[in-house]
Amino acid sequence: MQGQLRGPDDPVACRRLSFAAVLSPVVLVSGLAGSGCAPPPEAHRARNVILFIGDGFGMNQLALGLAYASEVEGRPLRMAELANTGSAGYAIPFSFERITTDSAAAATQMATGTRALTETLSVDPETAEPIPTILEWAEERGLATGLVANMRLTHATPAAFKVHATSRYVPEPELADQLFDEPEVEVLLGGGGRAMVPQGTNVGDSVPGLPGGTDGASNRSDDRNLIAEAEVRGYTVVGDRASLQAARGAERLVGIFAASHLPYVLDRSWEGLDDSVPTLAELTGAAIASLEGNEEGFFLVVEGGLIDYAGHDNDAGAMLAEILDYDEAVGVGFDFARAREDTLVLVTADHGTGGFSFTYGPGGPGPLPETVFPDYSAGPEMAGTRHLELLAAQRRSLIEAMPEVSSPATVDSVLAVIEEATGIRLTEEEAADLAEQLNAETPAPRDFATYYLDSSTVAVALAARKLANHTQVVWSTGGHTSEPVLLLGYGPGADGVLGIGENTRVHGIIRDALGWE
Ligand SMILES: [Zn+2]
Repeated sequence: MQGQLRGPDDPVACRRLSFAAVLSPVVLVSGLAGSGCAPPPEAHRARNVILFIGDGFGMNQLALGLAYASEVEGRPLRMAELANTGSAGYAIPFSFERITTDSAAAATQMATGTRALTETLSVDPETAEPIPTILEWAEERGLATGLVANMRLTHATPAAFKVHATSRYVPEPELADQLFDEPEVEVLLGGGGRAMVPQGTNVGDSVPGLPGGTDGASNRSDDRNLIAEAEVRGYTVVGDRASLQAARGAERLVGIFAASHLPYVLDRSWEGLDDSVPTLAELTGAAIASLEGNEEGFFLVVEGGLIDYAGHDNDAGAMLAEILDYDEAVGVGFDFARAREDTLVLVTADHGTGGFSFTYGPGGPGPLPETVFPDYSAGPEMAGTRHLELLAAQRRSLIEAMPEVSSPATVDSVLAVIEEATGIRLTEEEAADLAEQLNAETPAPRDFATYYLDSSTVAVALAARKLANHTQVVWSTGGHTSEPVLLLGYGPGADGVLGIGENTRVHGIIRDALGWE
């Protein structure tokens, strides 16, 4: 085993059991389980577990959320409230034989407790055999389970908890077939309907209420209809906010709100979809309402997936909106858990994305209150509230806006498209240089071009480098980054998050909190 970091069966974690549990004789004599601890006494066991995964929600993404909530809105993030009421630690996003990861390996590691090859879904890195996931464990033990995401439900993070495949890129219908297969997940809320409906049809033909703006054609090559089959098996099927609200409490619920991923928060508003596409917080609340009635308890995974996409795009404004959407969903889980004593909430991420950060720029010190002592001076301007407000003022994602720049790109077109989307007016010089870059045969950033593997995001990355002169936001890659991510816990077993260890320990923390050997 590489490195000596805290793993799934690290006995040190025991020291952190809650004071009351340590006094109980049961703890002192029985065998080790989960994260190296004896299962907590019945009274201290979790009955429900909610695992929040912010895809691409690295430490600097957390910093952005914390700064915005505190400096612009004068409040803590919900997840900060949770951390300060519960416990906080770190998870290291290694993968099999590597120190960076992708969403498939990271989710697999949380779901199974073992290191995984990138791009694989809950299979053994050496034998390729399926490894039972914590969700499948839960099903076996009578818990109700749920998967919620603002992405395709066949996408890496939600899929890793239920699907076994040697590649996350096998045809989506194969992943969707497994998603709906035995053992049945009671609640499925998210996108990806295109792999669930018969060839030659639209998702909206099978999902009532699906908004036209998120509908799309099937990508299946057969006539199987997973949605219709679910209805026959007693699932309630919904496709928009109103029908989701109307179905509140349905024990078996399938909610498909897009053929592919749900739209960015910004684009949902821009395209007038706020009334029809639910927020991540609303999806979380609906899932809990459906699952909480199960006698044996429940296990729910909620993914805030579009943070990652905004990171890949190098779009800070879109990313901020996704972070706040994710935090609001965490707040729903936290409020549910703190109203009772039987629910463990875990808040984490799979990795950071984009190498995002605020920095300081020329022309300091910038605007300051008049109360600052006289003659104060400083060289650079530190990032501050005005930069946060610039990001918050963005109205549309750049990945949607940039294709509207004329071809060939002109100064006027660049200025107009970027100002319309972000509210920021580039200088003529910035716009001219950006237009020139966009008109290049193979547009690429001048820095770290090697690490922008997805050509569809390059135009946004180039725009981001001009916007940086106004927002003091820098990016270093179009890919994932290797920093530790947060691992927060509230409720029975939350102490298991303390310390620094690999993300594989999430599996053990859940197992232990539920008292499973
Ligand atoms: Zn990613």
